Amino acid sequence: MFNYDYVIVGAGFAGSVFAERVANLLNKKVLIIEKRNHIGGNAYDEYNEDGILVHKYGPHIFHTNYKEVWDYISQFTEMNIYYHHVLASIDGKYVPIPFNLNTLYELFPESVRIKLEKSLIENYGYGMKVPIFQLMKTENNDLKFLADFIYNRLFLNYTTKQWGMQPDELDEEVTARVPVYISKDNRYFGDKYQGVPKHGYTKMFERMLDNKNIHILLNTDYKEIINQIRYGKLVYTGSIDYFFDYKYGKLPYRSLDFKFETLSVEKFQPVGTVNYPNDYNFTRITEFKHLTGQVHNKTTILKELPKECKNSNDTPYYPILQKRNVDLYMKYKNEAEKFNNVIFIGRLAEYKYYNMDTIVKRVLDIIRNEGM
Ligand code: FAD
Ligand code: UDP
Repeated sequence: MFNYDYVIVGAGFAGSVFAERVANLLNKKVLIIEKRNHIGGNAYDEYNEDGILVHKYGPHIFHTNYKEVWDYISQFTEMNIYYHHVLASIDGKYVPIPFNLNTLYELFPESVRIKLEKSLIENYGYGMKVPIFQLMKTENNDLKFLADFIYNRLFLNYTTKQWGMQPDELDEEVTARVPVYISKDNRYFGDKYQGVPKHGYTKMFERMLDNKNIHILLNTDYKEIINQIRYGKLVYTGSIDYFFDYKYGKLPYRSLDFKFETLSVEKFQPVGTVNYPNDYNFTRITEFKHLTGQVHNKTTILKELPKECKNSNDTPYYPILQKRNVDLYMKYKNEAEKFNNVIFIGRLAEYKYYNMDTIVKRVLDIIRNEGM
């Protein structure tokens, strides 16, 4: 039998921050069990064979309003300040996303846009963020026209591609992530702190986990080994339904195929990401050099192709936020609450559409509040 204070399943943000805190702050002995062959979870990055730094599981930009979270991760890496910009290809034009006053100006003739801009500001106020479903409830006919336009040209086909269902079949939280922004700010995120680790996420995780109290076991599903370990607490960041052997059924997830292409040109597109709501079978193209600031005579782009998560080798990336799925999750959550030596945390264990910063914040709060 091996002895640890904590066994942590998963070396993503949830597991790694937890491990770092209890090992460094509380001097506890920790074993991390990770089924992949690397740490970092979905934020893992690596240099590809052409020497370009890429995010293996899709583009990751760290953005937060929590100073505490920014300061915390900055202990393990210098952060390059980076403001993500996204364009959407609509009707042959590349326009800024989230839809804002600049987008309005690029898509409509002057007489129309002046009227719409005035109505938006009068009805919601300059600087406000309005989720598309809220805008669609407007009584103002001009704004109704605009809401329908945005819904049909930006949200409907992108969402159908991304999720295999229409926007109104999903919790409004999903499309509210990209609200209509009544401003001239083209940045994708509005948070106070935004950036990417200067030498990549993986290097940041390596520093976080570089502690004699932390042992890491890669390429191992925790179920293969958990019976051979004696531990005080288990921190579980994998899928909650798997933990309970799917006793109530499988929680639905959306998966992605990632198609990387390295091109012999210095730059491929004008911004980090271009969304293609209405064309192609991929949703967006990301060019990593915009995010990382890397200088290289070639460039690597990534196309994201959404798909069902049905086979055991499909990775669960996104929980599908619909009432019946959340109800199913609640059954597992109720079971989970009966285990007082297991902490369920992270995107998969909590079946939540978390950004990275929220997970860091949750771990820091748990450790502070529980006084562990
Ligand atoms: P994960 O990173 O998924 O880590 C869980 C780990 O547990 C995995 O490494 C997994 O292999 C391991 N594991 C699971 N089951 C087992 C098991 N049985 N045994 C052993 N190990 C197991 N967030 C942002 O803030 N900004 C972004 O720009 C952003 N972009 C994203 C883009 C895409 C395409 C996706 C899918 C997500 C994005 N996110 C972004 C969200 C971000 O990836 C997550 O918030 C974060 O990775 C979640 O961390 P986690 O530790 O909960 O989960
Ligand atoms: N979305 C859309 N069109 C866009 C961008 C986003 O319809 O051009 C919707 C889509 O449903 C998407 C959701 O808004 O899944 C959230 O977008 P976000 O960019 O936050 O997705 P993520 O980066 O998490 O994949």
